[in-house]
Amino acid sequence: LEGEIRQTERVTALGHMSAGLAHEIRNPLGIMKVSIQMLAQEKCGDGVVSEYCRILLEECERLNRLLSEFLSFARPKELVREKIALEELLDEGICLIQPALQQNFIELERVRSELLDQKEVEVDPDQIKQVILNILLNAIEAQGIGGVIHLQVVEEEGYVGFAVSDQGPGITQEVMPYLYDPFFTTKDKGTGLGLSVVHRILDQHGGKVTISNHDERGARVEVLLPLV
Ligand code: ADP
Ligand code: MG
Repeated sequence: LEGEIRQTERVTALGHMSAGLAHEIRNPLGIMKVSIQMLAQEKCGDGVVSEYCRILLEECERLNRLLSEFLSFARPKELVREKIALEELLDEGICLIQPALQQNFIELERVRSELLDQKEVEVDPDQIKQVILNILLNAIEAQGIGGVIHLQVVEEEGYVGFAVSDQGPGITQEVMPYLYDPFFTTKDKGTGLGLSVVHRILDQHGGKVTISNHDERGARVEVLLPLV
């Protein structure tokens, strides 16, 4: 037991240290980004220079995103709970994802329910918006250009929530067990942190998330939150 406790302490310390490190990396990264932007504006440039600048900026953005996602995973925030209707949570989450939907010519079909939309949950709205966003982003990335993503409210004894169904390739049995592992990704430029953040936030809320393939082609992600 003593060994286990030491192990836990070590893991916690490591978590703190890596969160600190991630935070420290951010500052120089910001400075690099500005410098590259300046460099790109210099008139010395033949096309090659601006092309390298473009790549450098893209990679800075990527590191930045990785760090943000890592920080929200490694340094969970205290929940600031608030009573809120399911409908309002979904409205706000969808609002954030609109630009990505438009860019990819994807239609979001929302299946409403007068009864369920009004049900209240006691959650941290910002964190649940993050959950909605991460799940919808995955759906968009799986689907690519065009098609429809379905968003439906769902319920289960003591819970309400929502399900997102996409028309992407779905999820193979081999990767199913690893979906929530930090840094697990099948994408070239993925961080593999989206679903681990989703899982952590739902744990904190006493909620649950289930991922499966649906009958037509594609994945279905269901999120349930405890009713007030
Ligand atoms: P990332 O999106 O950066 O890869 P996530 O934690 O969000 O990290 O997702 C982990 C992996 O789960 C993805 O790389 C992908 O293989 C799989 N996945 C998640 N959502 C879907 C989806 N809607 N359709 C197919 N695969 C998915
Ligand atoms: Mg993701």
